[in-house]
Amino acid sequence: MTPGPNGNRLGSVTYANGNVGVCACGQMAINSCHRCGAMLCDTHSRLLPDAPEGVSPDALSRYEIAIRVGGPYCESCRADIGSYALAQVTNQPRAQLPEHWLDRAMALNGDQTRSDLEKLEDAALPSSLTARDVAAEFLRRIGQQPHERVPISPPSIMRTPEFVEGWSVDCRRTEYTAAGGPQARYSLPCLISTEGELLGPALEENDRHGQTWWVVPDSDIELSRLVTGVAQLLLLSAFAAPRQAPQF
Ligand SMILES: [Zn+2]
Ligand SMILES: [Zn+2]
Repeated sequence: MTPGPNGNRLGSVTYANGNVGVCACGQMAINSCHRCGAMLCDTHSRLLPDAPEGVSPDALSRYEIAIRVGGPYCESCRADIGSYALAQVTNQPRAQLPEHWLDRAMALNGDQTRSDLEKLEDAALPSSLTARDVAAEFLRRIGQQPHERVPISPPSIMRTPEFVEGWSVDCRRTEYTAAGGPQARYSLPCLISTEGELLGPALEENDRHGQTWWVVPDSDIELSRLVTGVAQLLLLSAFAAPRQAPQF
């Protein structure tokens, strides 16, 4: 399969040698496809095929360029040309990944050569890895004061509530409905404490999230999302100036 002539005809309008044909849609044709010869109306000579799903950002941008260059082409020929470009990118080697699972997660965060599915596969988390291991490795590397704190005792008149400090990560399976506003569902929050525990509010009546934070059971934590979240926090922390003292 060869792409048709490229580049230099972009934007040109060819009036099919005075032979006014008819596009498949019934409109008068003003172009013919330079690849298959189909008669095309103005609309159909500019129609672009849908973007493919589940491909890497690199492959997607190559596809988007390929289907726009040259022509006039019909939609199906543009799709063919796009698939051809896609196959070339897909055959290219992926970026190399580091050995350690957390370094790998950090590298995958900015990787343009893999699709989301390939990222998930290449994350290759050790089968023995637990949420506590992830939290411990994160604390070992973060080297910064936490920016967040959450209440771990209910407020009462007699005593001030206790708080735990840490970093929040989106990794929980349990969802709740936000009070007020649209009935949108969100994951319950989760915080890695400075002690390496994963804390979060429980799901309360009426599908709301509670006010007091407790240790989250392992079964509620999606390990791959936790690792991705921790990798992003570490990447962001590289840009944040270290804090002198916590200001709460
Ligand atoms: Zn065509
Ligand atoms: Zn048409």
